[in-house]
Amino acid sequence: MNEEKMDGLNRYTNLGGSESEPPRFVYGSGIKEFVDAKYPRFGETKRQEITRLLYEIAKRDKLDVEDILRDFSVEPVRFDPLKSYLLKRRFPKYKTNVLKIRAALPKVEINPRFEARFEKKEFYPKYVYIEEAVTQTSLAQRIKQKFPESKFETISSYREYVKTHSYDLAGYNDRLDYCFLTQEKFDFFKNCPCSPKSVSCGYHIVNLGVGCSYECMYCFLPAYLNSPGIQFPANLEDFFDAFKAYHQDIRVGSGEFADSLVFDHITEYSPQIVEFFKDYPKATFEFKTKSVNIDLLTSVKPAGNIAVAWTVNPKDVAKQVECLTPSIDERLNAAVRCQAAGYKIGFHFDPVIHYEGWEKDYEQLVNEIFDKIEAKNIAWISLGTLRMTMGLKKTIENRFPHNTILDEEMFLGYDDKIRYAANVRQSMYEKMFSFIRRRSQKVWVYLCMEEKGMCGKVVGA
Ligand code: SF4
Repeated sequence: MNEEKMDGLNRYTNLGGSESEPPRFVYGSGIKEFVDAKYPRFGETKRQEITRLLYEIAKRDKLDVEDILRDFSVEPVRFDPLKSYLLKRRFPKYKTNVLKIRAALPKVEINPRFEARFEKKEFYPKYVYIEEAVTQTSLAQRIKQKFPESKFETISSYREYVKTHSYDLAGYNDRLDYCFLTQEKFDFFKNCPCSPKSVSCGYHIVNLGVGCSYECMYCFLPAYLNSPGIQFPANLEDFFDAFKAYHQDIRVGSGEFADSLVFDHITEYSPQIVEFFKDYPKATFEFKTKSVNIDLLTSVKPAGNIAVAWTVNPKDVAKQVECLTPSIDERLNAAVRCQAAGYKIGFHFDPVIHYEGWEKDYEQLVNEIFDKIEAKNIAWISLGTLRMTMGLKKTIENRFPHNTILDEEMFLGYDDKIRYAANVRQSMYEKMFSFIRRRSQKVWVYLCMEEKGMCGKVVGA
């Protein structure tokens, strides 16, 4: 990572330190009012687009809006030339006709109340709500023992609780104060929904928890959840029964709505999962994590069809963007321990984040992985570049107004998610693929949530 960008990432992160007074452009303050006053004859949508472009340029370049417009001298001001000028400034590397850019230009709506709060603390909920149906389960008993100071309440159902309690994005900061034990009745195993028009890797998902204590800037959970707290289904045996009637030659994992292991010391589910899947050798179960919470996993005899996979990014990116997570060194050390215990290991470079000099950092990380984990023990490596829905983009702006990951050039992609341009993504994938292939010809590498043409060009599938 070059120094300037590194400085940018550091400057924009308020983890554990005092932050100087944030500049006004970070929150978009006053830009809408400025545009409304300066361009009263533009319609509302046009003013919204100009406001959005000015905000993004001002935030990235640390400029006031008057400075951005100083070089635009076309009189009388018409919308198309102004938008074109601003698009060129916002997307200087994009070579094609800027007016054809599928840029996402939604309203700038940043509420400082929604900003993420960084508190590294042990999960010890103030309130534990237990659905009537699972009060007698072993998980309910265990939680009572582990959290004697918590306030416990029996509820008819989580669904009813949510209906009677208001929640907005600010409440996401308080999620660790609330824990819910629920009975899952229907939603056991299913195909990974992937992304529209993307090539599926055939993955299946099982939700053994919802919620996370980490603060990855790109995480979709704050944009997706409309309820507070960390949820654990307490009827694990029903999941096992459901699996017996499901496809059994699948790759399945529990890391979609939660980190698979971060709360494992509380649920104590991993040994039971390993034990269960031993009897289904055609299936592969994946624990997908950024945690180092592997003591329970490594305390039991592993099975050959269990993989423990870490999502990884270069050290400085992980430090600045995957807030509150264990460092990359800690994650790789945990992977080494799981390898020694006899588990297969997976890695997810997802999201790969673009910045000047990214290649060097990612190549170094690939090499470090292969130096520590034998290729024959690596079950798979997935690659996925940063992407998000429009809703998530706005959530990131609100929760992490000082972020730099949104300053890169990103456009509405084939699936209406905001992505790097196709040529940029292709180049990133090809480079990542070559870094991996230099170390192993055999490790299975696949692209996550990418279109068919891209997969074909990069990995030939
Ligand atoms: S580890 Fe996964 S679930 Fe947790 S905050 Fe990061 S992206 Fe979200």
